[in-house]
Amino acid sequence: MGKIKKILIANRGEIAVRIIRAIREMGLSPVVVYSDADELSLAVKLADEAYHIGGSPSSESYLVIDKIIDVAKKSKCDAIHPGYGFLAENAGFAERVKKEGMIFIGPSPDAIRMMGSKTESRGIMKKAGVPVVPGTTSPLKSIKELNEVAKEIGFPVLLKASAGGGGKGMRLVRSISELEDSFMRAQSEAGSSFGDDSVYVEKYIEEPHHIEIQILADSFGNTLYLGERECSVQRRYQKIIEETPSPFITDDIRKKMGKIAVKAAEAVQYENAGTVEFIVDKNKNFYFLEMNTRLQVEHPITEMVTGIDIVKEQIKIASGEKINFSQDSIDPRGVSIECRVYAEDPFNNFAPSPGKIAEYVPPAGGIGIRDDTGVYEGYTVPVFYDPLISKLITWGRDRDEAVNRMKRALLEYRIVGINTSIPYFLRILENKEFLSGNYTTSLVERIDNIKKEIEPDLMEVAMLAAGVKAMEYNGNGKKEEKSDKGKNGNWKMFGRMKNLRRF
Ligand code: ADP
Ligand code: ADP
Ligand code: MG
Repeated sequence: MGKIKKILIANRGEIAVRIIRAIREMGLSPVVVYSDADELSLAVKLADEAYHIGGSPSSESYLVIDKIIDVAKKSKCDAIHPGYGFLAENAGFAERVKKEGMIFIGPSPDAIRMMGSKTESRGIMKKAGVPVVPGTTSPLKSIKELNEVAKEIGFPVLLKASAGGGGKGMRLVRSISELEDSFMRAQSEAGSSFGDDSVYVEKYIEEPHHIEIQILADSFGNTLYLGERECSVQRRYQKIIEETPSPFITDDIRKKMGKIAVKAAEAVQYENAGTVEFIVDKNKNFYFLEMNTRLQVEHPITEMVTGIDIVKEQIKIASGEKINFSQDSIDPRGVSIECRVYAEDPFNNFAPSPGKIAEYVPPAGGIGIRDDTGVYEGYTVPVFYDPLISKLITWGRDRDEAVNRMKRALLEYRIVGINTSIPYFLRILENKEFLSGNYTTSLVERIDNIKKEIEPDLMEVAMLAAGVKAMEYNGNGKKEEKSDKGKNGNWKMFGRMKNLRRF
């Protein structure tokens, strides 16, 4: 690692912790920046050095390029790792890091730019012979154009913001009568959310799978694929649970998708880690959706089955090393699943649930468990950022084992003081469609519509387990006689607790 000795992490939360761990294991020095709200974060505690860069809103801290560059230079860092979100896919940032004489741990500014626009990347992919979802490859200029394209590709169609991301900026249109109104709304939403009101249209694939391929590419022209991730458990176009391998595709399709993903990456001379996302229809036809030119939230499941530390590979590639294994040597073993633990209330429309964590006992013990967390007991989850607080990952020799291990771990997981999505995961993991392996992106909507089938189901057990303490503590961690959670009925199963409590 001749070139890189000290790395600044331009991020926060669980991913900053994840990156610190890779840096540390490589014998290098991790440095972090933090906002007002993150003064006591786990990343700040674990890093060698931590620098305050501004106010809690990310526009005053994690998005301010000048401040981050300033810290990196003053602390004599050789490289910057952007994590995901924030500046990770900002080509101007990558360019600036380079200009200041440091290494950006990620692809070139050009590759970020080309893949950053959904319309431009669709055009490039089409030219490169990568199948894309039918639709336009440039922003729509008029309602007339939209009408024509929609008629040609057929309803339903999806209006998408060219600059969209994080599941935001999409609008499903089922008939021609809704088209004009939806177009206006999509444009104004895109403008206010992404500062760019360009909108394009794609055919809406019914009952699709989201399956993505992890790529690694070095500066010597080696581009490898590390298998796929099935990410069809989604709410509002955002992933909740991911697994690998996909239980839906065959080895033959897997190989084809891998090769096409490599082609996609090569078309933009891609370097470093990246993910090519595909939408797959019920006949297993697959189409390019977008490329995420950064480390992906769900990268750990690929690490669990391949044994490859993707963050370390990112750092090695950025420092100019060759990837030291071949495509043929990548031999995924077993099954890995990830649950994204969010600080949100599954009993109140998944509203954010920030606050102080009065008690925190992660299920870190036992075979096949990985807990990538950004929090600890006594920590206050801030309101300002993405509510993802931890990722629980399991590995099993087969899918049953990985699923059962995940259920076991979720039941052990204790977070008191805030609400989390943990009880909801148990509901998904009990669902027949999920267990069958042949589920699509509409699974979660269907589950949300199902009233309780079995009683008491696992979700209740989890509620009860959590409820033991939820009854005793209020949000500030102070003891209380009664919890207001009892009032809204969340913990009304109290009577059964004697039989079911596990703690
Ligand atoms: P992944 O598959 O890695 O989860 P996502 O698209 O869900 O990819 O994005 C990961 C993170 O980056 C999320 O926190 C999301 O909110 C954020 N993000 C991605 N793209 C954008 C964007 N264009 N604008 C705002 N946030 C984004
Ligand atoms: P983002 O940048 O927000 O991640 P994507 O283009 O990756 O946007 O799409 C996010 C999700 O939206 C997909 O995983 C899928 O569930 C849904 N989606 C996107 N495009 C289509 C489509 N053409 N047909 C059906 N679903 C789609
Ligand atoms: Mg996406």
